[in-house]
Amino acid sequence: MPLVAPIFRPALILVDVQEDFCPPNGSLAVHEGRDIVPVLNDLLKLPFVLKIATKDHHPPDHVSFASNHPGATPFVSTTTIANPANPAETYETQLWPVHCVVGTPGNELLPELDHARIDAVIHKGTDPRIEMYSAFRSPLRDPPLASAVTDLEERLRAADVTDVFVVGLAGDFCVVSSALDAAQLGFATYVVEEGQRCVGGVEGWAKTRAQLEEKGVRVVHADGPEIEAVKALRL
Ligand SMILES: [Zn+2]
Repeated sequence: MPLVAPIFRPALILVDVQEDFCPPNGSLAVHEGRDIVPVLNDLLKLPFVLKIATKDHHPPDHVSFASNHPGATPFVSTTTIANPANPAETYETQLWPVHCVVGTPGNELLPELDHARIDAVIHKGTDPRIEMYSAFRSPLRDPPLASAVTDLEERLRAADVTDVFVVGLAGDFCVVSSALDAAQLGFATYVVEEGQRCVGGVEGWAKTRAQLEEKGVRVVHADGPEIEAVKALRL
């Protein structure tokens, strides 16, 4: 039997590397959020078949802003979101400071990112009624809400992607949700540890890491063999 090399078509997803998630001015700045940029720019130089950045892209009346709920406190209060097409389907979500509002400086991707190497930027969290951590879709599935499903899966399928590497902000919210969805959709999925930072800091990452590994997402390093395999695609 001739040996057939397995097909390896990796994509890179940069989740929400936006001003509002970074010091010094971000309204929801993740500690050291800006420090991941050199790692991301190194990854962007590699021959991933697709390199996609996502943006949290909220209207001012977005449901996740504590200021849109009288008496609510950011980081502490929660709200219940119901599927507009099926009120019985609900999920509980944390409330945040106002962030990533369309047209504001906080919505911008970091300027020091190597934008020229990014193939596409997709928006999430655009429906004011729905919170959306995952770059793929909201937790509403019964039925899925069209305004809270991005074309990310479609783009990955169209490029015959087999493996998805996820980095960005925040590790313990949008990165983990995106990675878990990628794995559930059948992609071999990895999170590059140095390419993320968590709202919950080191402790948040420890919990997130366990959650990822439990669901079959591999936590890898920027200098590890999985990234070397991407580099080898050049040959
Ligand atoms: Zn948001």
